[in-house]
Amino acid sequence: MEEKNTACAKRGRFIVFEGIDGAGKTTQIELLERALRAEGRRVWRTAEPTESVSGGLLRDALGGVTKRTACEMAALFVLDRIFHNVNPVSGIERMLADGVDVICDRYYYSSLAYQGSEIDGDWVRDMNLNCPEIRRPDLCVFLDLTPEQSMQRIDCGRVTHEIYETAERLTRVRKRFFEVFDSLKETDRICVVNAARSIEEIHADILALLQS
Ligand code: ADP
Ligand code: MG
Repeated sequence: MEEKNTACAKRGRFIVFEGIDGAGKTTQIELLERALRAEGRRVWRTAEPTESVSGGLLRDALGGVTKRTACEMAALFVLDRIFHNVNPVSGIERMLADGVDVICDRYYYSSLAYQGSEIDGDWVRDMNLNCPEIRRPDLCVFLDLTPEQSMQRIDCGRVTHEIYETAERLTRVRKRFFEVFDSLKETDRICVVNAARSIEEIHADILALLQS
């Protein structure tokens, strides 16, 4: 019995970062990884799409190398996410069981917000949330920034027309994220963090969330 309790206590935490491009996910994940390591914890930083075959198919499609329908994308993300969870060498389950904290850049919330706004949201939701091999995170940190603010951060001289298109789409996606969070408030711990502040202030908030 005692052995079992020890094993439970050592289980890692599964922390997901979400937010539109430019919100500061990579920046904050790096800082959090460093802070957790400084506390002596073991950390595995990971992201979706993964480095697997399915992740490669997704990256090709996201980069415009291949063309996929929205349903294909949604299904590929689910396949990639299942692999991410269960692969026995470095999957999320394996890492958490070994006591490693897992920090993941994007997860099913992104599927629900992006693909869920293009095709039947219920289907995307069911595939992700009713799949026994897709684990629910312990914490989802949503870095919230308006599309205008995020584009200011990432903009590298794109033409005006494209910028407007992107802002429109991102506004829809951000709205959808909030709808998704509202629908998950009974089951998932989701913390919306104002990302329009200094890197240090945001980092401090995230550390406080992990202590509460
Ligand atoms: P994401 O991974 O969500 O796309 P990044 O962490 O790559 O976002 O950040 C996008 C850009 O904004 C980077 O150039 C980064 O240095 C900068 N950045 C990140 N956080 C902040 C912040 N709080 N204030 C100002 N600039 C930031
Ligand atoms: Mg990033």
